Amino acid sequence: MSTTVPASGRVLVVEDDRQLSAMLAELLGDAGYGVDVAGDGQRGLHLGLTRTYDVLLLDRGLPAIDGLDVLGRLRAQGVTTPALVLSALSNPVDRVEGLDAGAEDYLGKPFDVDELLARLRALRRRAGAVVGGTEQVRFGGGAFDVAARRVRFDDGRAPVDLSDREAALVELLARHPHQVFGRDAVRDRVFPEATDDGVVDTYVHYLRRKLGRRAVTTVRGVGYRWGEP
Ligand code: CA
Repeated sequence: MSTTVPASGRVLVVEDDRQLSAMLAELLGDAGYGVDVAGDGQRGLHLGLTRTYDVLLLDRGLPAIDGLDVLGRLRAQGVTTPALVLSALSNPVDRVEGLDAGAEDYLGKPFDVDELLARLRALRRRAGAVVGGTEQVRFGGGAFDVAARRVRFDDGRAPVDLSDREAALVELLARHPHQVFGRDAVRDRVFPEATDDGVVDTYVHYLRRKLGRRAVTTVRGVGYRWGEP
């Protein structure tokens, strides 16, 4: 079975070795990913908490805050983005520590670039639960079929079809169910041409009308996060 998923999406690379991070940025960029690079754990933590990524690529040995600590702090804040840890420490004990810290995968240095890319694709497949070419984002009580722009419910409710923009909003929120998005962050991602944040409130209103009041949760003074439709 062919399991190729087009490489798209954003990757956060946290790596203090400049030569390696430049190589990774070029490699991932060539593979079709959008890439942000952080040169230390502090910066990586900041980006991981304030921006949305599809995959995290974390070096373990970083000055100040090491890679596993960055990951632990992101997980503690509800960031569920799949993470691959890169490390020169690659004994079984080291791998177990990495996986216990919340990494989905662990790759020893030096690594083969094709293997790295394949592992990133695998992480994205698992995260998106790609089934037979149809990507589904699972959530408590149902799933969102990305290509068909259709929300299905496990309780037998009729599926709901969404417009392009409604679908983009559901995809953003449902993929990161524990993350709160400010209205400006939602606007940047889903309505980049809009001139004010009111469009975000309007579309949240549409989604609630179609999917139920609880589909989107308002976090007062901060923004919105996914609910349980
Ligand atoms: Ca390092």
